[in-house]
Amino acid sequence: MFKVLISDKLNDVAVELLEKEGFEVKKAWDIPKEELEHIIPDYDAIIVRSATKVKGHLLEVAKNLKVIGRAGVGLDNIDLQSARERGIKVINTPNATTNSVAELALTMILAATRRVVTGTERLRKNPSEFKKLKKALFSVEIEGKTLGIIGTGRIGSSLAVKAKALGMKTIGYDAYIKQSGVIELQSSIDKVFEKADYISLHLPLTDETRHMISDEEFEKMKTNVILINCARGGVVDEDAAYRALEKGKLAVYATDVFEKEPPKEENKLLKHPNVIMTPHIGAQTLEGNYRASVHVAEKVIEALKELK
Ligand code: NAD
Repeated sequence: MFKVLISDKLNDVAVELLEKEGFEVKKAWDIPKEELEHIIPDYDAIIVRSATKVKGHLLEVAKNLKVIGRAGVGLDNIDLQSARERGIKVINTPNATTNSVAELALTMILAATRRVVTGTERLRKNPSEFKKLKKALFSVEIEGKTLGIIGTGRIGSSLAVKAKALGMKTIGYDAYIKQSGVIELQSSIDKVFEKADYISLHLPLTDETRHMISDEEFEKMKTNVILINCARGGVVDEDAAYRALEKGKLAVYATDVFEKEPPKEENKLLKHPNVIMTPHIGAQTLEGNYRASVHVAEKVIEALKELK
């Protein structure tokens, strides 16, 4: 009988699915992470989200480990090379939270356009400003505007479907994908900068994409562009974003992610009135969590059964 350790909080459906297969499951998300090294030697599989770091000593003592399941996409908390050397299979659930992140990007587009956060903050502070604010918050519709999607994979495509349904024109650029049923792909990223009223980033953070949006790129964009970043903080050079906001080139920077998380108090973006932000909540939904729990359990079951 296989033994599975779940060290970060998942929906109970994962436990149910694993137990139905006759596996012994330990929910270990309430125990301190330092204690995992004492129990992990007994387990055939570990399932994590992002909090457990499956690296270094923890991997060294995991003598029976055959499978690491990551409920979610990013694998930065797992030492992939060391896992490979030890013959441990690593699986993740790349599709589970696609819709959740795409919905957040859409929320950012709408909230940035209708200045929902400014309205809330200022009205809360001074209700007598009501009439003045009503004039100040005069804005535009998103229908008919052009959304530029950079990175047209799962999340970028899901956002495009939603944006099109709301009447937006969707163009995009991807370094590796050359066809799309929902996005009018451009031959260069500069063409997206040139045409887009909104730019939404949906790329991984790699050596190639780090600071991909910096001073030079902001210069190529339309004045008053709205930039949405629900990808990774480092894809945007935050200092350059601040400069673009100050110059009035960038109307709003709507971000779920920061170069350093949590951001330092002195990060100037935190106080800028034209920044709207959330604390990396893209994947944090009931439905996303449920799907990630089901997918990871199913994939771990499959991987362990293959060993029999
Ligand atoms: P995906 O792999 O389906 O799509 C990413 C796309 O980026 C791919 O099509 C790839 O070809 C493209 N790409 C890579 N390098 C590029 C480059 N240099 N120039 C242009 N295109 C490039 O991934 P996905 O599931 O759509 O996720 C996208 C990103 O969203 C993830 O990498 C992650 O950083 C981020 N994410 C954020 C949250 C959140 O909580 N905010 C949650 C999940 C994922």
